[in-house]
Amino acid sequence: MKAVLNTAPGVLSTGDVVLRDLLPDEAHVQIHAAALCITDTFVVDGIAPTPFPNIPGHSAVGTVLATGSNCSRVRVGDSVAVVGSSQCGRCHSCLAGCPSACVDNGNGFERTIGTDAEGTAVYTGVGIGALAEEMLYRESNLVPIEASAPTPYLALLGCGISSGVGAVLEVGKICPGNSVAILGCGHLGLWMVQGAALAGASRIVVIDPDENRCRLAAQLGATDIIVGSGAEAVRQVIELTGGLGVDVAFEAAGQVSAVSDAFGMARGGGTVVATGMESPTAAVEIDNFSLIIGAKTIVGSQTGGGDIVSTVPRYARLLAQGTLDAEPIVTAIYSLDDAAIGIDAMRHGGALTGVVITSPSGQLPSTLATESNALP
Ligand SMILES: [Zn+2]
Ligand SMILES: [Zn+2]
Repeated sequence: MKAVLNTAPGVLSTGDVVLRDLLPDEAHVQIHAAALCITDTFVVDGIAPTPFPNIPGHSAVGTVLATGSNCSRVRVGDSVAVVGSSQCGRCHSCLAGCPSACVDNGNGFERTIGTDAEGTAVYTGVGIGALAEEMLYRESNLVPIEASAPTPYLALLGCGISSGVGAVLEVGKICPGNSVAILGCGHLGLWMVQGAALAGASRIVVIDPDENRCRLAAQLGATDIIVGSGAEAVRQVIELTGGLGVDVAFEAAGQVSAVSDAFGMARGGGTVVATGMESPTAAVEIDNFSLIIGAKTIVGSQTGGGDIVSTVPRYARLLAQGTLDAEPIVTAIYSLDDAAIGIDAMRHGGALTGVVITSPSGQLPSTLATESNALP
């Protein structure tokens, strides 16, 4: 089967991969479409601890072709979301009610799924891999869904939608009437805006230096936009909220400085939800006084937290009924052969979300089949 192969830092090509036999806790999946995100550049550039050669990608939609003997969540023929966070259901974190810290998230980096044309073992991006016609997945990364929404949109369930909407509903636990600030209007921030609107937040303040992205956020439900960043943006959020700060501030800018800014925007006793990652080794600076005297809470959000077996099918239904709107967030469609162009666009911030159609069954919705983003 054909796959995108990442053979060295920054080096991508398409090639043939022969998949090995299924393990008992794995399923063989035909992939229809995969969504790109900034995390893929960490793998491609050799920053994430995934060896080469590897198949990048961590969010996709597909159909189960075969299951290992220990699989119980998915069956042959199921439509499944490939999710960027694992949930094995058996480890300490899963049993303790915190599946987003599942042990499978950290132990798959050296997972191989077959061999390339030279017979070299092929690894998978962050233990998952999605830029391929087919893949062997641990069942812990798969969730059965109703595939009613357009296929390219369903590819976003496993990262952008789960991470953004989940951060708001599952981690921030926004209630009707809450006030929120969202730092960063890339794909994560725009999904957070939709999640906050869905939850009934009364004030949704977005902060981004890019005015066009702020305006898009306003179309999707933001009540206030601040074009900017840093200390001046913190001051404006405090002013907008009558000197109090917001109930929950969400960091979606991918910069540790934005976590510090979010901390300044949260009210006393408020919460900061951090979702972005500047680099695996970056450190977050938090004001000690605000943390202790302000009694603030800071919490990390791994792919939106929550029970993905429950949340992802709900997000799929919200996509199908149009309550969650993917159309303005999917900014480009690529073939497998052009996936490198899409990854480069993510690296340079030139796209919100690029989707790679990995098989002929990944039909484009009519709204996307325009001259500028039709399949080459
Ligand atoms: Zn687990
Ligand atoms: Zn991602």
